[in-house]
Amino acid sequence: MKKLFIDIGGTHLRSEVRDGDTIIRETLSSTETGLLEYIDRVIEHHPRIDFIGIAYAGQVENGEILSAPNIHIDTYKIAHEVERRYGIPLGIDNDLNCAVRAEAAYWKSQSIAALYVGTGLGAAVIDQGRIVRGSHNMAFEIGHIPYKSSPLVCGCGRSNCLELYASGSGIAKWLTHYEMEETAILSELQGSLIAEEFEEALLHAAGVLVTLGNPEILVLGGGVIEQNPYLATLLREKLHYYALFPALQNMRLEISALQNAPLEGAKLLENSHG
Ligand SMILES: [Zn+2]
Repeated sequence: MKKLFIDIGGTHLRSEVRDGDTIIRETLSSTETGLLEYIDRVIEHHPRIDFIGIAYAGQVENGEILSAPNIHIDTYKIAHEVERRYGIPLGIDNDLNCAVRAEAAYWKSQSIAALYVGTGLGAAVIDQGRIVRGSHNMAFEIGHIPYKSSPLVCGCGRSNCLELYASGSGIAKWLTHYEMEETAILSELQGSLIAEEFEEALLHAAGVLVTLGNPEILVLGGGVIEQNPYLATLLREKLHYYALFPALQNMRLEISALQNAPLEGAKLLENSHG
């Protein structure tokens, strides 16, 4: 049984081909590679793949990509196209839905919210053991809720998204705007408006998520959190100013312990109906 799992975000495409106990991992830039083009290439090198699971940093529904603010899209009907070309079943879900699935399994929780800060700002919620999806699998798209107007343009086309303030791509855009040197380490920006506004926006995002989702566990993850571990302490200290107090009672705030939660969640997509 050979399987291909992919996590595709705004900067990287990470994959695993699993063949029994053998695992082949690959990481490449997602800005230069289309998803279908990559699958074509892997199948050429690894025939007899019988399932493909994908964690996708964009809006997806029933095997179709609807939009992706940070990724070049080379086909929208990805599941249909792979099935037509190769007869291989393909499961694809939003990367945060995949991540929260993996986090729920790790923390053994039926009530958990994931807040991930990487290239984008994403969230997903599992309530009573099921992912909260909304009518088109877009519930909790927290990065693109209106926050504050800015001189920048978000990947979704608007200028007031939370993601412009609290994400890796947001930091990069502000640094370009102020003609400052590139960095994702907020401590190097301490005292600057960028770090202050990032912290404020992250607290706002966590407060909204906890107040609306009312989870038992809020788990933080993503590259920007990994690179700036002080953010977890900041949230522990100040979240009560941003969330409805009863929603915080008995709620635990955890840091993701998984190497790549979206990819781990993509492995749970086969035969999954949650
Ligand atoms: Zn946006």
